[in-house]
Amino acid sequence: MNFKLILLAPPGSGKGTQAALLQEKLEILHLSTGDALRSAVKQKTLAGIEAKKFMDAGDFVPDEIVLQIVKDTLSGKGVSGWILDGFPRNKAQAIVFDSIAKDLDQVDYQAIYLDVPEAVLLERIAGRYEQFKRNDDHPDVAPKRLETYHQQTAPLITFYRERNQLHMIDGNQSVGKVFSDIKKALGLE
Ligand code: AMP
Repeated sequence: MNFKLILLAPPGSGKGTQAALLQEKLEILHLSTGDALRSAVKQKTLAGIEAKKFMDAGDFVPDEIVLQIVKDTLSGKGVSGWILDGFPRNKAQAIVFDSIAKDLDQVDYQAIYLDVPEAVLLERIAGRYEQFKRNDDHPDVAPKRLETYHQQTAPLITFYRERNQLHMIDGNQSVGKVFSDIKKALGLE
C-alpha cells in the first residue's frame, strides 16, 4: 500500500527519526522540508539564500518557497506514496496542500501527531545543538521556534482531527515504542 503521511510534530519531537524509520519500512519517498531547505542554503540557490535569514532566526520560511519544494517533489515521476516531515507548518500551507494533493490525485493522506511535553522538547533541542551546532537549535532561538510552532502549527492538530485524518501518538517514549505505536495506528502490526 502506498501510504501518504504527514508528520505533524514540534521541533525536538523525534519526527525526523520516525520519518526515517517509516521510510525504511514502507519504502516510500521521505521529504523533510527542513532538510530540503538546509540543502538549498548550502548550495546557495536563490531560494536557499532567501530561506537562510528566516531559518537562522527560528522563523518559518515563506510559504511560496516551501510549497514549491513540496509540489516539485510530489509531482516527480512514479511518486505515489510519501512521508512529509515538517510540512505543512501552518493553515495556509495545509489548505494549498489540499489542492496540490487533489491535482495529483493523492488526497487519501493521514496525519501523525507526536505528542511530547514542552520541557522534554527543549531538553532534546539543547542536546541536538551540542551535537550538530545548527543555528536554529541554539538555546536563544529554540524557545522562539516552539512559540512559532504553538501559534501556527498546533492548530493543524484540530484541523486534521476534525477531518478524521489524525493519529495522536505519545512521543515521550523510546524510539522503538513510538515507532511501534505509529505502526499500530496505521494498521501495520
Ligand atoms: P525542521 O528541520 O523541520 O525543524 O526545519 C528547520 C527550519 O526550516 C524551520 O525552523 C523553518 O525555518 C524551516 N521550515 C521547514 N519546513 C517548513 C515549512 N513547512 N514552512 C516554513 N518553514 C519551514
